[in-house]
Formats: sequence, C-alpha cells, structure tokens
Amino acid sequence: MNETIILIDNEDKVVKVNRTGTVFFNKPYVDIIKQPINDLFRSIGIHQEIQPLALVKHSGTYEEGEMFFPEKSMWCFVTVAPAWDDKTLLGTVCILTDITQLKKLEGQLRHAQKMEAIGTLAGGIAHDFNNILNIIMGYGSLVQDSLGEDHPSRAQLNEVLTAAERAANLTKRLLAFSRKQVADLKPLLINESVIGIKKMLSRIIGEDIELITDLSDNKMLIMADGGQIEQVLMNLTTNARDAMPKGGSLTIRTGLFEIDDRFVEANGYGEPGMYARISTTDTGVGMDEETQKKMFEPFFTTKEIGKGTGLGLSIAYGIIKQHKGFINISSEAGKGTTFNIYLPLLQEAHIEYRESEDASPLKGGIETILIAEDDAAVRDMSRIVLESFGYSVIIAEDGEDAIAKFTENRDK
Ligand code: ADP
Ligand code: MG
Repeated sequence: MNETIILIDNEDKVVKVNRTGTVFFNKPYVDIIKQPINDLFRSIGIHQEIQPLALVKHSGTYEEGEMFFPEKSMWCFVTVAPAWDDKTLLGTVCILTDITQLKKLEGQLRHAQKMEAIGTLAGGIAHDFNNILNIIMGYGSLVQDSLGEDHPSRAQLNEVLTAAERAANLTKRLLAFSRKQVADLKPLLINESVIGIKKMLSRIIGEDIELITDLSDNKMLIMADGGQIEQVLMNLTTNARDAMPKGGSLTIRTGLFEIDDRFVEANGYGEPGMYARISTTDTGVGMDEETQKKMFEPFFTTKEIGKGTGLGLSIAYGIIKQHKGFINISSEAGKGTTFNIYLPLLQEAHIEYRESEDASPLKGGIETILIAEDDAAVRDMSRIVLESFGYSVIIAEDGEDAIAKFTENRDK
C-alpha cells in the first residue's frame, strides 16, 4: 500500500510497520520495531510529543488531522485508530497518507480564486476610474482649445492632460489583466511599437542588462492592439530580467517570416502566409523541458511565493492568440531563451496607413447626436464637448431612455 501503516502497542511503541513505512522513516524494519513512536518521529524532525493511545482513549474513537514533515517537505493526512482484540485495547493503528500534491493543488486553487477576485476588482475599479479620466480629459481639452496658442497656462494644462493619458493607459492594462478589454485592432507598424516601448523596457530590466534592438528594414504592417502588443513585450522582458539576476543582454529582433507547409507540419500549428516575427533573446538561465511544457499555463511559476504570479506568459499567449498569431520558444537550461512571436502581416496594398493622425481641430457638425450614458458626469461632459463643436445633442440615461428619446425625436 502507498500509505505508511504503523501498529503501535499500549506503550506507544511500534509493533509492526509496512514497507512504505520503512521508506517513510528511512530505516530498516528491525530498527523500527519496538521503538517508541516519538523517537521515530523525532528522527525525521518532528519534536512534538504524540501519544496515540491517549488520543484514542480520550475520544473513544479514531482521530485524524494533517501534519507537515519539514525535513521531507511532505504533508500527510494522519489517522490514529484504536486496535481492539475483541474487548481488549491492544494499542493503536496509525496511517499516514501523503497529501503533498493535494496541498499544492489546494494552494493553486486558492491562488487562482484570489487572482480571479483581484481581476474582478481591478476590472471594476478600472471602469469607474476610466469614466473619471474621461471627464478630466474632456473638460481639459475644452479649456485647452479655449486658450490662445501662447497662453501662459497652456503648457501646464498640457502636463495635466498628458498625466491623465498616462493614467488612462494604466487602467487599460488593468482591464487587460481582468480580461474585460476587447482588442482594439488597428494597422500597426511593428518596428514603431518596439521603438515606442523601448524606454519603458530598459527601465524594467535595469542597468545590469543590456537592451539591444535589431529592427528589420522591412515596413511590417499588422492588425493589432498596440497596448496589448506592448503588454506582451513587457511580460517577456520582465521574465528575461528575472532569468538574468547577474546581468546579461536582451535582444529584441524584428523580421519577416514565411510560414509554409513545412513549418506547419513540423510544428503542428500555423496558417501558411507571411508573418511579422518579433523575437526576444536573453542570455539567462534558460528553461528545462518540464518548464517549457507548462510555462503558458496560468499560475505556473518557478519563482518563489510573492515573486511570480505565473500570469505573464499566459496573458501573452492569450493576447497573441487573439491576434491570430503564434508564440513559440527555443531554450535550453543554462543557455538562455528565445521567444518568437508571429503576427500575420497585412497586405499593404489593401490598406492605407497614415503615419500620424491629423491633429487640426475638427470642423463643427450640424448633425444631431443621441448619447446614452449612465454616468451623469460623463454624460454632461460629452454633451458639452459635442455642443462646443456645433452638434445638437440629445442625451439619454440608459437604453430604454435612449429608445424613448429616439422615438420622440425620430424626425430630427
Ligand atoms: P512568472 O514570471 O510570474 O513566474 P510567467 O508566466 O511570466 O510567470 O512565466 C512562467 C515561468 O516560465 C517562469 O516562472 C519561469 O520559470 C519560466 N520563464 C519564463 N520566461 C523565462 C525566461 N526568459 N528564461 C527562463 N525562464 C523563463
Ligand atoms: Mg513573468
């Protein structure tokens, strides 16, 4: 049997032990027999006195509980039951079942539930916070437009708006984490994404690690959510940093890549076509096969408690998948790690990409706009902004109100 089973006499000395028990105590059978059970426990690091007989006598029936064996890093479920010979109490039977794996799963489940709760909480906060930011940015832009080009307060107001925008980016990240965010797909030049976030990445990896970028000359256009792609690069960079505690280098490379039938056959995934490839190569500790098998699983982490969440790669995986892309790795323990991300390329012929948005103020409209918004402050702000551009605005508090207002005003 897999359980350790010990028969103990009336003096708390061992009468018999099964083979699993000899392995458990790491002693030959003869060295276990007739030993006081407490001596045996002491020999494996348990110094607390246990009196099995007193235990069962006290309750008249069996006792059970969980016990940790620090020297073995093992959790056991322990049952102590009286051993009867007809009506004479001979002693006790003690059964130890290894529940270490179960305990680990229990911990993971608790962790998962906690993350789920944090996700819900973060999503809720981010949503409310976004509304507030909208109000700040909306009124701020109105004030900005009303100030002359060389008004002394303009620069200061600019700072306010930039800070608000940064806060808005932060809430986006919170929303991505709680997976409440839908990808906002736009044509995106891969190299620009990398260049845009390079400064942030070098702040993540610190001074002991060199950040090298090797960008392709090709203009690679993909359909992507820029914020989410940045999130992926940040997660990979954070991992690379953790893998290089003594320093090293991280190289981010971009290039064209063709996925052909051979690739699909060799890897068992992929759609043939042209892809943009982003690779991150670190010179860190690398990963053994076991870790590689599990790394994308949510909550899989090899880091100590409090350091790793095990979410970085699973979020990255989710994002890349949402972009119809692929992510794979080549790594060997001790030899560094390369992550490859493949994102389907857009046919440039079909798409017109504007380098920067035209920032000149919009011309006012004469149209009527119906707004349904449940947050009163956001509602007012939207109305004021639109009216300041000349639109007629009808506001509604919710869906039902919107339908009523529409019916009322349908001819307008
Ligand atoms: P976390 O970083 O919180 O542990 P991740 O999902 O980001 O969770 O990564 C999962 C695991 O994959 C890490 O704990 C680590 O063992 C391994 N890993 C990820 N990236 C690297 C890397 N660049 N080098 C070595 N190991 C890595
Ligand atoms: Mg990570």
